[in-house]
Amino acid sequence: MADNQKKLVVLTGAGISAESGISTFRDSGGLWEKHRVEDVASPSGFARDPRLVWRFYKARYLQSLEVEPNPGHYALVQIEEQLGGRFTLVTQNVDGLHYRAGSQRVFEMHGRLRTAFCTACNTKKDMSELDLELDIPICPNCRAAMRPDIVWFGEIPYYMYEIESALKDCSVLMVIGTSGAVYPAAGFVMTAKYMGARTICVNLDRPDNMIFVDEFHKGKAGEILPNLVEPLLNSLA
Ligand code: NAD
Repeated sequence: MADNQKKLVVLTGAGISAESGISTFRDSGGLWEKHRVEDVASPSGFARDPRLVWRFYKARYLQSLEVEPNPGHYALVQIEEQLGGRFTLVTQNVDGLHYRAGSQRVFEMHGRLRTAFCTACNTKKDMSELDLELDIPICPNCRAAMRPDIVWFGEIPYYMYEIESALKDCSVLMVIGTSGAVYPAAGFVMTAKYMGARTICVNLDRPDNMIFVDEFHKGKAGEILPNLVEPLLNSLA
């Protein structure tokens, strides 16, 4: 691909899935489905009470199978269909709704609910292949405890090299439904802006990193994004 072609990076957070019926995290007072993040989203929480952590993620996984992508997810599929390799989608979400909507190239930087991996031998398995009746699912390979394939607080997000490269090379970064409070994702808008990109934000309220946003669209992603597809594609032509 010629290097002078305009490229788009999209970063999504919990807000894009809110209209599908999945609760966001900050909107419920810093709790995730009524749990403190230290308890359900940290390695020490898992070490302390793996049964609670597994109960939590099994419930999130089963919920993710029941909900459907919304017009916000589908608008991003439409954009990718037009831009092909000029489009990169990075998500902090673990619900898999971008894949279910049909997005092809998605970097799930915080992991995914639909897989788990072994705490001893690292074998990765689809949740559908595990016995979820067990309090703590076990590895079919070595019988050790499995853990959810989620990047917890204090762990290194996936695909950081690919994401940093895309951010440095994009002409537009669009950030959707994220509070701008969870790092390193919250720093992406600053990186892209300093590298010369135009930065767009679609959110219900002003994110914490608003000073790096050039263009702010206040409201629901599922209502705003379908109307942004055409002007965005025109600006990237
Ligand atoms: P967040 O909950 O911190 O922030 C969500 C943001 O979305 C808020 O600023 C809110 O105003 C906005 N918002 C709510 N509804 C919206 C809508 N309909 N349209 C547009 N914006 C809307 O989410 P975050 O910044 O993604 O950080 C939370 C962390 O917790 C993430 O790292 C993620 O891994 C995890 N999480 C994931 C899910 C999921 O996979 N769906 C859900 C909850 C939490």
